[in-house]
Amino acid sequence: MNGRLGFRVMNGLLQAAIVGSLLVASVQAAEPIRVLIVDGQNNHNWKSTTPILKDFLLKTGRFTVDVVTSPPNGQPKEAWNSFRPKFTDYGAVVSNYNGELWPEPVQRDLESYVSNGGGLVIVHAANNAFTEWPEYNKMIGLGWRGADFGPRVTVDNDGKVVETAKGEGPGAGHGAQHDFAIVVRDREHPVMKGIPAEWMHVKDELYHGQRGPAANMHVLATAFAAKGVGGTEANEPMVWWIPYGKGKVFTNVMGHADYSMKCVGFQTIIDRGTEWVATGKVTIPVPEKFPTATTTLSDDAAK
Ligand code: ZN
Repeated sequence: MNGRLGFRVMNGLLQAAIVGSLLVASVQAAEPIRVLIVDGQNNHNWKSTTPILKDFLLKTGRFTVDVVTSPPNGQPKEAWNSFRPKFTDYGAVVSNYNGELWPEPVQRDLESYVSNGGGLVIVHAANNAFTEWPEYNKMIGLGWRGADFGPRVTVDNDGKVVETAKGEGPGAGHGAQHDFAIVVRDREHPVMKGIPAEWMHVKDELYHGQRGPAANMHVLATAFAAKGVGGTEANEPMVWWIPYGKGKVFTNVMGHADYSMKCVGFQTIIDRGTEWVATGKVTIPVPEKFPTATTTLSDDAAK
């Protein structure tokens, strides 16, 4: 080998090594997931809760977060012409919206976004929305609807999912707000893996009697709705997911108010659920300081 050829070979090897290490680096530092929070109407204080959602999602370092705000309630139809969220720009859409039905094109956009593999996360009263939108009902499985709307889903004390027929038993409601225990029902699910089997959630409304098509429901966590606080004496679904086409819809009915959303458990489930619907994987760790079976933990107390 003459000197010149030797130099070329060495140079080629060096270039290959540099390209190789760049490839490794780009695989290791995962691209941030783009998240879109939708708000603008809610019978809850979305102006105080959206910033909390945004803040704790950003703190994971895993997401970038945009917010799209709808027109307020009662505006003329034209006010909605500029409300055209570009769902396909995002890995996940988080709904903090409970209000007027979106314009038809926006409904169709959300349906095609999720069915083509997009991720949708439903927070608390977002499952109260859109009773009259059939595909939305399929996506969320259970919503804040009357007993005649569809079946109800609970979990018995052996962990078996029980369906109650349409018209039988209570419709949607909740008792008085209180701290309550969350019981994880699928500890192998990527979102739930590493989360304690039972832990106390900060004061919240405990939704019961939710109704809907309830097809393909995967119940991930429940809470017992005690009669003494206005509940149903049943293990009510708190967290579940549903496949919709190639996409996933992840619902967490906790999160009534700012204090409920400060629960470390609530935040961990939204963070990991959002990552999971976007990528099918969970890399966000369960925080070392986590609520226990007897004590709640708010994020300001966890620091
Ligand atoms: Zn509420």
